[in-house]
Amino acid sequence: MYNIPCKKCSGKGAIPYFRLVNGGECFDCNGSGVQEVSKEEYSTHLENEKFRKQVEKKGAFVVYNKTADEFEYFYTENDVIKKYGSFYSFGRRYAGYSAYFFDDHPDLVLKDYYGNDSFMHDFRRQKIIDEQKKQKEWIEILNGWLTMAIENKKHADEIQELKIMIKEAEHKLQMISYKQLKKPITQQTN
Ligand SMILES: [Zn+2]
Repeated sequence: MYNIPCKKCSGKGAIPYFRLVNGGECFDCNGSGVQEVSKEEYSTHLENEKFRKQVEKKGAFVVYNKTADEFEYFYTENDVIKKYGSFYSFGRRYAGYSAYFFDDHPDLVLKDYYGNDSFMHDFRRQKIIDEQKKQKEWIEILNGWLTMAIENKKHADEIQELKIMIKEAEHKLQMISYKQLKKPITQQTN
């Protein structure tokens, strides 16, 4: 068998919240702080530790720049504020994750980083979904203008120009595709 720090008490052997009960001793490990696990669980533990050390090295706050499609790591909230100013949450989410947003930088999203990289892919996909949605809305507006121009019997040049604009907008929509995600995740360190 393999030993890892007890998951319940994080290897401390006691849970402060329960200190009035039995001195707060952790029931899962009987206060030893150690937990016996299978080989699979042990290797998962090692993986998690590796991630945790990476986070310690790089910083636990990740800022995603939607425009540049880049991630930037910060050690503390203050480091983030120093560079980009104050941020807020108000329960808002990005790509299904609770995230923070900046007063002065609408292209940035901040997430606290717990060593799990999966949000990075989801953030990048969300950026593309947002761009597609915006472009679809623009095409709808153009089509509305075209309908109005035809109904109002506007000059043929104007109608033709709108048709060209719609074609171009539709082409751009096709270009905003998941192909962009083939670009590897770029990471900046401070
Ligand atoms: Zn324990």
